[in-house]
Amino acid sequence: MARVTLTDVTKVYPGGVKAVDRVSLAIADREFVVLVGPSGCGKSTTLRMVAGLEDISDGTIEIDGRVVNQTPPKDRDIAMVFQNYALYPHMSVYKNMAFSLNLRRRELRLSKADIDRKVREAAAILGIEDLLERKPRALSGGQRQRVAVGRAIVRNPKAFLFDEPLSNLDAKLRVEMRSEIKRLQRRLATTTIYVTHDQEEAMTLGDRVVVMKDGIVHQVASPLEVYERPVNRFVASFLGTPPMGFIDGRVGESAGGLAFEHGPALLRLTPKLADAARQRVGAALVLGIRPDAFSTSEGTGGGSVKMRVRVTLVEPLGDRKDVHMISPIGTKLVGRVDLRAGVAEGQETDMFINMDRAALFEPGEMGRNLSAGREGTVAGEN
Ligand code: ADP
Repeated sequence: MARVTLTDVTKVYPGGVKAVDRVSLAIADREFVVLVGPSGCGKSTTLRMVAGLEDISDGTIEIDGRVVNQTPPKDRDIAMVFQNYALYPHMSVYKNMAFSLNLRRRELRLSKADIDRKVREAAAILGIEDLLERKPRALSGGQRQRVAVGRAIVRNPKAFLFDEPLSNLDAKLRVEMRSEIKRLQRRLATTTIYVTHDQEEAMTLGDRVVVMKDGIVHQVASPLEVYERPVNRFVASFLGTPPMGFIDGRVGESAGGLAFEHGPALLRLTPKLADAARQRVGAALVLGIRPDAFSTSEGTGGGSVKMRVRVTLVEPLGDRKDVHMISPIGTKLVGRVDLRAGVAEGQETDMFINMDRAALFEPGEMGRNLSAGREGTVAGEN
């Protein structure tokens, strides 16, 4: 168990690629933190620097208050689980799991019986007691994954580091193993840093998620917080499937208050959005709408406004359906509505938008969320 603290950590690879740019992050003891972002954003590099597998170009990494910048990986007392599991093919599951302990038996003052007990305990936790004599090639993907985790558990490390550990599994198994890892982390109460490009995995696993892009941390907050109050348009669009839709326009005065003008559509702002927009009347802004904020019927909350759309595609999803549509000035949007809602492809129809669930952004890919309030945890303020 340990706290892991990164302060202004930067990594520049030989050749000049700045993979990680002044990342600061305070991870509490027992916390499960997920680094998420598109491929190439610097997640793995960050994790590998914590593990000691990459040099740190600038900044400091502390584990339990001790700066480890110069500490070799084996002396950091952390265990890493890789995407490709990195099992030794010629060794049995038992030997794979016992390997790191055997290697340091004297140093750790472990007897053969101690190691045996640790391996069997970890195998029991993971439900792989029956597989101990098998070689990795005789295991399924999910079983190999468990062995890789088992190898980390036996060491009883200060922290677990996971680098995309579920990417090689099929979709169903991935969801199963995800729950397993979460239960395991709760049970062992070990500080965990987990890297994934899969936003759903991040949202379901993390106590907090760290959203990265181009080596920079954009937001650090609970899954609910990053979803409900993304700090900028990048975070808003990265989390959630289907992603948030964005329409361009400007805020203007309309009868009885402020409205967002998107072509001929006049979308009355809720008091909260109006507050956010008050200093920006007349300026170009972007309204963000989550798919589930659309409805074919008027909501009861009073924040419901109407927009004329053309429906291009309807995708049934069991209890809901996704409606692909085009706004009055040609912006593509997706609404997730009740399966029984009466919408048909090719139809022009009124869609209602629950403006309590909409957000106002400054223009541009990284446009700041003006309606997030002050609660949003911005990079570095965690
Ligand atoms: P992620 O894990 O988010 O996909 P990485 O941390 O692997 O991202 O990579 C971040 C950036 O650093 C990318 O632009 C990648 O190409 C670059 N990079 C990664 N490893 C090396 C390396 N060994 N040498 C040079 N550049 C690298």
